Amino acid sequence: MQTLHFLYHELRDEGSDYSYVVKTSEFARQIELFKSLRADAHTGRAGKLNPAVTFDDGHISNYEQALPVLQEQAMQAHFFITVGWTGQRDGYMGWQELRALHAAGQQIGAHGWTHTLLTHCDAAQLSKELRDARLKLEDGLGAEAPTMSLPGGRYNKRVLEACREAGYKQVFMSVPQASAEDAWMVGRLNVVGGMDLQWMEKVLDPASGVLASLERKDKLKGVAKSVLGDTMYARLWRLINHSEEQAGEGA
Ligand SMILES: [Zn+2]
Repeated sequence: MQTLHFLYHELRDEGSDYSYVVKTSEFARQIELFKSLRADAHTGRAGKLNPAVTFDDGHISNYEQALPVLQEQAMQAHFFITVGWTGQRDGYMGWQELRALHAAGQQIGAHGWTHTLLTHCDAAQLSKELRDARLKLEDGLGAEAPTMSLPGGRYNKRVLEACREAGYKQVFMSVPQASAEDAWMVGRLNVVGGMDLQWMEKVLDPASGVLASLERKDKLKGVAKSVLGDTMYARLWRLINHSEEQAGEGA
């Protein structure tokens, strides 16, 4: 069965203009919806996509706000961690939180070492961002961590080869498309604040055409990136998403 992965970043009790922030109460309703749809999937929801949940960056709200909701609903999510920020950067999880997530049955993967766009890295930087990040994460968790998500969703052929060489078994993108459970490259739909629950249910029904339309829009965005270049695109992105971060493109 095909799965559609949703991508979250930060949760807050109160909403924010920054579109990558989702209200915790909103997240709880979305998890409830996903859970009901997943339950249906096992009893045969023919032709529908199975929802799955991922988080990028390792924000402290993943532990403080998301974990209790997931535990209450007995749902599992996949958390991708910017390994060099762990225990180093205010507002992000430390090793204690990561180990607690892992002990609670949540999945943990890597999201680079410094969140640098991998397409901008030379061979030595790629090794640090990919191989060192995986080894550090595995050392910190005492468990294998063979999955990663691409900072800013950026990749090319060279980056993907480096991911394989660094020992990853699965790479998560920021492209809205459904994927097989064991796919090498996994598509994800970015969740922003204020998404409508009924619309999210429609996205999980390929017959509605909503996901196909999102995929087409994303391809156009790809064209804009290559025409504008990374610097101009990042400026436009911050403007559109009301970003509070100085870190550039948040995904
Ligand atoms: Zn990110």
